[in-house]
Amino acid sequence: MLKGTGNSIYVLLLACLWLAACALPATTPPPIQPDSEGDVGAAGLGDPIYPHLGNGGYNVAHYNISLAVDMAGNSISATTTIQAQATEPLRAFNLDFLGLTIDSIQVNGQPAGFRRAGSELTLLPVSPLASQQPFTVAVAYHGQPTPIANDPAVPRSYGPVGWLRLSPGVFVISQPGGAMTWYPVNNHPSDKATYAFTITVAKPYVAAANGSLLAKIDNGPSRTYRWVEDRPMASYLATLAIANFEVVTGEGPNGLPLRYYLPPNAPRPVMDALAETPAMLRFFTEMLGPYPFETYGLAVIGDERVRIGLEAQTLTILPVQRVAAEQLHELAHQWFGNSVTPATWQDIWLNEGFATYSEWLWVEHTQGRAAFEALVRAQYLRMAQAKMWPPAQPPADQLFGPPIYIRGAWSLHALRLRLGDDVFFALLRAWVTRYQYGNASTADFMALAEEISGQPLADFFQTWLYTAAVPSLPPLVRP
Ligand SMILES: [Zn+2]
Repeated sequence: MLKGTGNSIYVLLLACLWLAACALPATTPPPIQPDSEGDVGAAGLGDPIYPHLGNGGYNVAHYNISLAVDMAGNSISATTTIQAQATEPLRAFNLDFLGLTIDSIQVNGQPAGFRRAGSELTLLPVSPLASQQPFTVAVAYHGQPTPIANDPAVPRSYGPVGWLRLSPGVFVISQPGGAMTWYPVNNHPSDKATYAFTITVAKPYVAAANGSLLAKIDNGPSRTYRWVEDRPMASYLATLAIANFEVVTGEGPNGLPLRYYLPPNAPRPVMDALAETPAMLRFFTEMLGPYPFETYGLAVIGDERVRIGLEAQTLTILPVQRVAAEQLHELAHQWFGNSVTPATWQDIWLNEGFATYSEWLWVEHTQGRAAFEALVRAQYLRMAQAKMWPPAQPPADQLFGPPIYIRGAWSLHALRLRLGDDVFFALLRAWVTRYQYGNASTADFMALAEEISGQPLADFFQTWLYTAAVPSLPPLVRP
């Protein structure tokens, strides 16, 4: 996600329409109960910051999301089909799903009972599921998707998350919990899955989603777009962008297909910035190894008042005025966050600290060592003056606070100073290789750092990642 922007004001054209709908549902999700009756999947995965997100008892393999979108009414008519596998015997299990009207639910082709409480959707299949049994859930639903406006862990300046109807069109920006505003989901980054999207929308709108465009079908007054993301993806990274886009294609290193969904007549600074994308891809590829996905590009929000953006998998979403400043940060997330995904939301510094340090490394690469040293000194002063708290233990209401970015990045720089360049960059390559397409925690990173370096680093990580006091400035001389 974007770096914190202080008290910037996020303006939504349709805020007035959302006034009644922007709050989380009045019904709070039920507390997580021990499995007293047996065979009931847990209503949450016990995330340290979002205990109710996700559900226990099964793993999702694939989502097939089929949407007809009415742009004028900002409404959808949809069917989401989920392929999953039970991890325990299940008489009932939950999905996360917020708002929208459910028309029908089937489990393994048979109508299933269901009940709803807030964002928890409990399904009651006719036949209980056996442990390890693969199963299919099909949910048909319709209505106006309502974004989550008041997540206490997200800075107010970011605005609502989920399905966003902005003046240029629809842009889905879900981090952390917004996926459930438009499809039923096991809504936690630890349950990654592949995705297919079928989107039907009236002309002249153009629909983009994650992955590769398999088909574009002309229905006369409308078009249907089929997108597939066949690499595992966390639910917060699933996106949809629908607007009157101009589509620009290109090619990155190793023939990587690039596609950009741009507002008509995108301003020159945006086009200049996008011309840099192949060089940035080369930089990361040389530093970390191959780009992990099959396509890359951006969908650009043509409204300068929007302040929110997201590194959606293979399709970064950024507002028009932030493309130049933020695109490298969001590209870094394709490795740090999208391919290697945090095990819990408490591990968010593994996304943001790494993406921020990537920005500093780009300065070193393009502007030289003196500019880099000046930057890291300035960021140290900023960190010390603000007494930034340790990045691996964010307060529950500060998931995207500045320490996640700045002290997170400085923790990596301090590690580089301690280990030397050769070992540090070998560690980064090992990180994105060992945990590619999976999940990893701060403990995993610390263990890998000790393994690759052969050094005990517990005290180092305790000081930088877990101790309140900002560590003293290490000697900036690199071994
Ligand atoms: Zn970020």
